[in-house]
Amino acid sequence: ASERLAPYRSKITETKDKKRINLGANVSTKGTVDESLDINVDQVGLFRTEFVYMSRSNYPSEEEQLEIYKDVAKKMDGKPVTFRTLDVGGDKYLPYYDHDEETNPFLGTRGIRFSLMNEHVFRTQMRAFIRASEYGDVRVMFPMVNTVAEFKTLARIFAEEEKKLGLSLKKRIPLGIMIETPAAAMHAEYLAKHADFFSIGSNDLTQFVMAADRMNPNVSSFVEILNPGLLKLIHYVIKCAHKENIEVGLCGELAHDRGAIPILLGLGVDSLSVHPSHVLQVRKFIHELDYEKLKAFERHIYEVESESEMMDMVAMVIRHK
Ligand code: PEP
Ligand code: MG
Repeated sequence: ASERLAPYRSKITETKDKKRINLGANVSTKGTVDESLDINVDQVGLFRTEFVYMSRSNYPSEEEQLEIYKDVAKKMDGKPVTFRTLDVGGDKYLPYYDHDEETNPFLGTRGIRFSLMNEHVFRTQMRAFIRASEYGDVRVMFPMVNTVAEFKTLARIFAEEEKKLGLSLKKRIPLGIMIETPAAAMHAEYLAKHADFFSIGSNDLTQFVMAADRMNPNVSSFVEILNPGLLKLIHYVIKCAHKENIEVGLCGELAHDRGAIPILLGLGVDSLSVHPSHVLQVRKFIHELDYEKLKAFERHIYEVESESEMMDMVAMVIRHK
């Protein structure tokens, strides 16, 4: 398989009819950044910062974080890096924090909820991001945002830290929202007026839309990743983003699914971000697709009754090359 994929290591990502697709990597350590650059990714679409916090016995200081973020930004050499603010809770815990035991941790104190409850921790991270932005194209996004008010609070704290630092930055740091709760997705029209970009977190969005815990194997057979309702919601999010001229990527597992990729591209998603181990397969698959044909999914997702019909539709559209 690696031989079959080897020619794609240095290629750009484009469809058969030459539509350029932005393909990024999801990383969480400096090492995976090197691995991603070796296979010519367009960006780091998601840098999960949890591991910076989890791999030690106390909160990383501003300087310690700066070292890591700066290194990543430098390595990417001008290509965008989207850092996600600390997203603990759910299935990830800090060894040095006294997390409450919660009945539904995925619906509990996680993402920005943790950050807003531990504001000093959040502020330290913002300062590290702001300082790291002097070394590359740094973007910041917030997980588990539901409302415009939450986003405004986060953006205000960010601006306060930016002001305190008093750096004369060459460019504004874009602030994005991860669309991963139904509340955020359904209200995307208004969130798009405030955020600089969206990134759809399909892992969480799927578990919340299907009401099935992503860690619970008992219910995994009840999850449909190509559920027509879910796809319509994703389409709505993309349309709302484009109405406000902001970009919308997708960085969950859906981004490397061969059934989902043609649909997502057809619905107009601006970028996909996947684990580096999936980059070459995804790129090769995209090279086999005819972009013009994929636009039909803007209609098709409203015409199917079930996930299996959706899958048949995908097979039909991509077979007719
Ligand atoms: C997601 O929810 O899709 C996502 C990318 O974030 P995580 O898997 O870290 O929750
Ligand atoms: Mg998530």
